[in-house]
Amino acid sequence: MDGFNDVTGFDTLAIHAGQEPDPATGAVVPPIYQVSTYKQDGIGGLRGGYEYSRTANPTRAALEECLAALEGGLRGLAFASGMAAEDTLLRTICKPGDHVVIPDDAYGGTYRLVSKVLSRWGLEYDPVPLADIAAVRAAVRPETRAIWVETPTNPLLGIADIAALAQVAAEAGALLVVDNTFASPYLQRPLALGADVVVHSTTKYIGGHSDVVGGALIVSDIALGAELAFHQNSMGAVAGPFDAWLTLRGVKTLGVRMDRHCANAARVAEFLVGHPRVASVRYPGLPDHPGHDVAVKQMRAFGGMVSFQLADGEEAAVRVCEGTDLFILGESLGGVESLIEHPARMTHASAAGSPLEVPADLVRLSVGIEDADDLLADLERALG
Ligand SMILES: *Cc1c(COP(=O)(O)O)cnc(C)c1O
Repeated sequence: MDGFNDVTGFDTLAIHAGQEPDPATGAVVPPIYQVSTYKQDGIGGLRGGYEYSRTANPTRAALEECLAALEGGLRGLAFASGMAAEDTLLRTICKPGDHVVIPDDAYGGTYRLVSKVLSRWGLEYDPVPLADIAAVRAAVRPETRAIWVETPTNPLLGIADIAALAQVAAEAGALLVVDNTFASPYLQRPLALGADVVVHSTTKYIGGHSDVVGGALIVSDIALGAELAFHQNSMGAVAGPFDAWLTLRGVKTLGVRMDRHCANAARVAEFLVGHPRVASVRYPGLPDHPGHDVAVKQMRAFGGMVSFQLADGEEAAVRVCEGTDLFILGESLGGVESLIEHPARMTHASAAGSPLEVPADLVRLSVGIEDADDLLADLERALG
């Protein structure tokens, strides 16, 4: 697997990067600096560079440093949500009249931001199947500023070849942006594969406990990092100190949680493949998944998300979603508890009639870290 050559191990970084004991008290975790402003020792005499908490806050700075280390980048920036990170990024790197290539099964919120908000500001876009490198190359124009990648995708779990797309972006003079929310930096590190920017909804695996909404950007180019920090401060969609602290608490266990998510999801996928009511299973760990070889090349393991289609169609899919006990019917993903949802009526309802419409007989699982046997029994009961 490419991209994991660091001297310090991932779990050590998750627990220690940016999190030295507090210099004032020795507190072993960074305190929640619930503060807006800081005493200056004479005009401009800032202690540790802190002036005003929109610009920088020590709890947020700890999270930003930790996330940068986990992605192998040099600068991390934490935002109030994944969408706030995306909006800040696109309005930093693009100007009206520019163009972006987006996945034809992009996260619904990303598609809405680009097609309903930033299009009014003058941003142009084309949804393209990213597994088709020739199609991506054909969609690139002189004004293309970014190729936006998700892999695995939501909810269809398609796989895109990050290294191959990085080459297309470089040839086009565009930035390669990778939304790494589904994999997390434990499973996949896009910067090492040639990406310019990593985007996260830290709400999902990084936070991991369904108790905080947040987002992040990570880059390895210092100049781009400074430009993003300028826009983060100018636009103001920053993570608050308590949210940053909760996210930092979550990220410490990212590696051990992901190992269990992946093991449980593999068991669930295998169970679904053998079930007579299931027509097809989408999981990159299955050898017949069209992106399996690329996933093997660029991921440590295959993640905790599994989607499947029911042999008996949409009504059967809805019945399964409403029939589980342990799998909680709900949107979002990446928490310790298992979730089930019907994308066509829930997370992707707004995509109906667009190029991002999803099959009506599709069910999406976010497989949690409960005992796998209990999860299989729950699905067995609901499938009937
Ligand atoms: C949830 C999600 C987002 C948006 O993040 P929020 O924290 O909900 O604003 C972006 N991309 C992906 C892949 C997501 O799953």
